[in-house]
Amino acid sequence: MIQDLENHCYRNEYQPVPPKGNDCILYFEDRHVLVRLSGGSFSFPTFAEAEKNCPEIYDSYTYLFSIDNTCYYFASAFHPDLAEGCTMEDIIIFRNLEPQKNCFALITGYQLSQWYSIRKYCGRCGHPMVPDTNERMMYCPNCKNTEYPKISPAVIVGVRNGNRLLLSKYAGGTARRYALIAGFAEIGETLEETVKREVMEEVGLKVKNIQYYKSQPWSLTSSLLMGFYCDLDGSDSITLDEDELSVAEWFEREEIPYDEYDVSLTREMMINFKKGLS
Ligand SMILES: [Zn+2]
Repeated sequence: MIQDLENHCYRNEYQPVPPKGNDCILYFEDRHVLVRLSGGSFSFPTFAEAEKNCPEIYDSYTYLFSIDNTCYYFASAFHPDLAEGCTMEDIIIFRNLEPQKNCFALITGYQLSQWYSIRKYCGRCGHPMVPDTNERMMYCPNCKNTEYPKISPAVIVGVRNGNRLLLSKYAGGTARRYALIAGFAEIGETLEETVKREVMEEVGLKVKNIQYYKSQPWSLTSSLLMGFYCDLDGSDSITLDEDELSVAEWFEREEIPYDEYDVSLTREMMINFKKGLS
């Protein structure tokens, strides 16, 4: 999965050390990111590159995280002209380019860029927020309101029915691949209740034997996905919520389709069931 960086070390502690020349600058405009493409891989502009025409690049930065010995930042003085050979690309490149550590840095940085962009002003009193110096938090000097990065819990559900697994496709949008039932936790419910509610809402089925599998941070939706398997409880007759799904159907284990290359928890859960591991 995308967060499994094997021999690389991702550190998300807030340690706002000043940038060095070989540290990376993440630059986003809406859903696009500035990168240097090279065959099937990509890299990010560095402070050393930007420094050539913009010595003040080191003056104002936002520390994000580190991977191995490289730190990642937003830099206020940066603009795309400072990085020769870089282009703005849709963030979706994380699905099919390498290396994986850059893909993970891309989507994690994207989540932070989204969060900072909607926390410029206090949600309580409207005063401009300021970044805290000790932790990754925005602070309102007027009313003392504090804001931490938003992470929304959500479930991915593999509904089993003997040798069959329930697969579905999202309605609308660009979703072409089969997926599992998914949805966000609501206020006041446990994750197990989220599983039951989402399955009932989307396909009209009752489930039992809810078992936690694994989790995955999913930055595109600022969510923390938690995977569960469960068993059908009662009728297997599907009542589709057509606002949410375009199709939902039972697949025999041997016939479960999946993409060769994907980085999602959904795919891993589908393959696990297919291999009889769930
Ligand atoms: Zn305030």
